[in-house]
This record gives sequence, structure tokens and C-alpha cells, in this order.
Amino acid sequence: MAAISMKNIVKRYGDGFPAVNDVSIDVADGEFMILVGPSGCGKSTLLRMVVGLEDITSGDMIIGDRRVNDLAPRDRNLAMVFQNYALYPHLSVYENIAFPLRLAGEKDEEVDRKVRQASATLELDEHLDRKPGNLSGGQRQRVAMGRAIVRDADAFLFDEPLSNLDAKLRGQMRTEIARLQKRLGITTIYVTHDQTEAMTLGDRVAVLKRGVLQQLASPRELYENP
Ligand code: ADP
Ligand code: ADP
Repeated sequence: MAAISMKNIVKRYGDGFPAVNDVSIDVADGEFMILVGPSGCGKSTLLRMVVGLEDITSGDMIIGDRRVNDLAPRDRNLAMVFQNYALYPHLSVYENIAFPLRLAGEKDEEVDRKVRQASATLELDEHLDRKPGNLSGGQRQRVAMGRAIVRDADAFLFDEPLSNLDAKLRGQMRTEIARLQKRLGITTIYVTHDQTEAMTLGDRVAVLKRGVLQQLASPRELYENP
């Protein structure tokens, strides 16, 4: 069973050409799936339909064994991993990671156990008392991922997380994300317009053009048959 299954997904915004046109993609459990294509090809729209931020015109969105077309984002158990701006500057790393658990009203001991476990996995133990402003870009990225994993989300979703960074930091973060995704074994969908990211990060790459799925293959297959 696929972790996330998009079946014949269509999105029309007006009466024009569909932004997403009959796209079917099965993302396997633990897989790192890239959605790539030029600006305007429909990748953000598709991701927003997975998360539930955009209505689906037709088709089925399946997460695990549930059809989620009509489920609100909070009922889908997915985690959008946002870049720096989503961290609270006045809160410590600990409280940033704990935030969703506090919101859910979990007990202090439970919060502590989950935060410590996540920070160990993400190698953030030594930084728990620091504020995001004093962290490196890679560390901030890990805090954002920590906040997502304490919730036990079924999948991570990234929308162009590195697009505002300089080339050097982008390279580091790319490596970091790939390493952590494999370590956590969490199903991931990652949107980018960057070919290098697409070819280096993913297990498989879905290439979109004008709303249509052009190719769905491993980076190696794409490299050999561009
Ligand atoms: P991207 O970087 O993904 O190409 P865009 O600049 O296309 O982002 O879109 C930015 C925001 O504007 C998004 O929230 C998107 O939904 C919205 N948007 C994009 N195109 C249109 C449009 N033609 N009409 C209304 N809103 C749009
Ligand atoms: P990408 O993420 O690949 O840049 P988008 O999914 O943002 O592409 O956009 C796909 C198409 O849908 C574009 O033509 C864009 O202008 C259009 N679009 C996106 N969001 C909206 C919106 N809210 N209203 C109308 N058109 C939109």
C-alpha cells in the first residue's frame, strides 16, 4: 500500500487550462518523492492538495487507507516543514520543538520525552536552550523538522525550502535533509524547480509540465533518459 496515493488528480482554478491535469502518483512508505518542473507547472498546487490547503476538482487523494479529499489539513496528520520564518524567535529550541505538543495539551512529562527523543535523533541535544537566532541555517532546519516529528506525522512535505538561501548553504542543507530523511525513514514529498535538488535528493522524481505528469522515475533513469 502506498503511503500517499494521488489518483487522477485534476485542479481547475477557473475555466482555463487545468493547473493540475489528471496526475497520478503513488508515494511509497518511506520514499523521498520530488515534484519538479518550471514555475507555474502546478507543483505547489499539487502539494497544497495533498496537505488540504486547496480543494481538489476531481480525482482521489489517499493517505494510508483513507480518502482525504474532504478532510481538513489538521486531520491529515502531515507535516509541512517550513523554513526559518516558522520558528518562534523568542522561544528556545526546546520550546519550539515542544510547541505542537503544548498546543495539543500534552502533559509535561510526555512533552519532555518526545522533545528529548526528537532532539537526540536530530543531534540538537546540546542546543535546546538556545534561541533560533543563534543557530546555523542547518540547525534551524533541524528544529523545524523536530517540530514535525514530535507530532508523529505520517509524512513530511517541503515546498521549495531552500530557494531563498545562498548556494553554499543550499548545498549543506540539501545534504542535511537527505541524511535526516533516510535516518527517520519518513515518507517525504519535496517540491522544487531546481534540477540539482531534484537529481540529488529524491528516490524518485515526478516531472510536471503545464499541469501534466511527464515522467516519474529514479534520478538515475532520468539521467540516462532525459
Ligand atoms: P510559485 O513560486 O509557486 O510559482 P506563485 O507566485 O505562482 O508561486 O504564487 C504565489 C501565490 O499566488 C500562491 O498562493 C498562488 O496560489 C497564488 N497565485 C498564483 N497564480 C495565481 C493566479 N493566476 N490567480 C490568483 N492567485 C494566484
Ligand atoms: P508551481 O508551483 O509549479 O510554480 P502553481 O501550482 O503555483 O505552480 O501554479 C500552477 C498554475 O495555476 C499557474 O498557472 C498559476 O498561475 C495557477 N494558479 C495557482 N494558484 C492559483 C490561484 N489561487 N488562483 C488561480 N490560479 C492559480
